[in-house]
Amino acid sequence: MPGFELFGDKERNQVQDVLDSGVLMRYGFDGIRNGHWKAKELETALARRMEADHVHLVSSGTAALTVALASAGVGAGDEVIMPTFTFVASFESILALGAIPILVDVDDTLTLEASAVEKTITDKTKVVMPVHMCGSMADLGALQSLCEKHELLLLEDACQAIGGSYHGKPLGSIGDLGCFSFDYVKTITCGEGGALITNTESFYENAHKYSDHGHDHLGNDRGAEQHPFLGYNFRISELNAAVGLAQVARLDEFLAIQERNYTVLREALSSIPEITFRRVPEGGVENYSFLNFFLPSEEKARAVHQGLGEARIDGCFYWYDNNWHYYRKWEHLIQRKSLGKLPQDVIDALPDYSKSDFSASDHWVGRNISCLIKLGWTADEVQERAGKMQKVIRGLV
Ligand SMILES: *Cc1c(COP(=O)(O)O)cnc(C)c1O
Repeated sequence: MPGFELFGDKERNQVQDVLDSGVLMRYGFDGIRNGHWKAKELETALARRMEADHVHLVSSGTAALTVALASAGVGAGDEVIMPTFTFVASFESILALGAIPILVDVDDTLTLEASAVEKTITDKTKVVMPVHMCGSMADLGALQSLCEKHELLLLEDACQAIGGSYHGKPLGSIGDLGCFSFDYVKTITCGEGGALITNTESFYENAHKYSDHGHDHLGNDRGAEQHPFLGYNFRISELNAAVGLAQVARLDEFLAIQERNYTVLREALSSIPEITFRRVPEGGVENYSFLNFFLPSEEKARAVHQGLGEARIDGCFYWYDNNWHYYRKWEHLIQRKSLGKLPQDVIDALPDYSKSDFSASDHWVGRNISCLIKLGWTADEVQERAGKMQKVIRGLV
């Protein structure tokens, strides 16, 4: 997945442009910036590639989620539905606005399960936020119908699946809002950065203002701008945007490498009858950033994960026990460990997650292993890895 693996002259030249002009900020300084508008150019490039009317860059993927929710008017006490399997940014962005993260089960797509979502909808629900984890997507057709029926917004977190598609449309462009991360380990990187995309002009207008202290961005005298509402600072710098501009031009090259490497590993594992693969909804195309598969039991998944580690096959994750992408490891959320006092709306309405039953998620995540697909592997290295994985898994199932 990581774009940092293939980092070179194109990135260096873009950054050098910014250093030569000396303007590190995305707004203003028109006279001295020598025509360099890296953030704007990256927004244009992303709008084209992601088939979206509007793109706004921010400082991180977490910022993109926060600004996306804020731009849609989400605030104190509103409920946002999110999956039990995701990155912690999902509930961080919701809580940052005083809204309530409502955790919902995932299925064999490793993303939100539509019927579980429907059962959780209340009159406080504003947004359904599927997270396209590990390179593949939620059942967007089903979620879209639900959102239409209940008049909710659909926000796609496509941070781990940039370049994937659903019925021919880029992931992120199907919901009312879509978010991407360009942190250091994502498919394309800015160092740090993120973007939101939307076809709703008012969301875009809110987003660019909110992420820059509420500045209205009218005219070209920043000091004289008005502030239609309260905002914050989630700006990206020109240096980060410059790196992303070089990387976005290479996205399709990176995706092709991922697909090639993924296919070799998948074919090798397909010969093992005990293994099944993560379900990709009909009409979906992965971005191939991870190969995700299920073992017949939790016990076997643990053994295989350990076996792969002992055989020095790096980059394979057992999320159920390790890392911080599954609700079982979110003690800080479950125990509400905040530095200062949480907003009263959150204290009153946050479910007691120490008592929840997410056995439907456990059924899938407990048996899943996800292996990161690297860009830098040679053809021989992929073949060797495929052979080793096959041998380790065969010996343990
Ligand atoms: C990386 C990631 C984010 C957050 O992105 P940052 O740029 O690191 O803040 C959000 N959601 C998912 C699914 C991610 O993988």
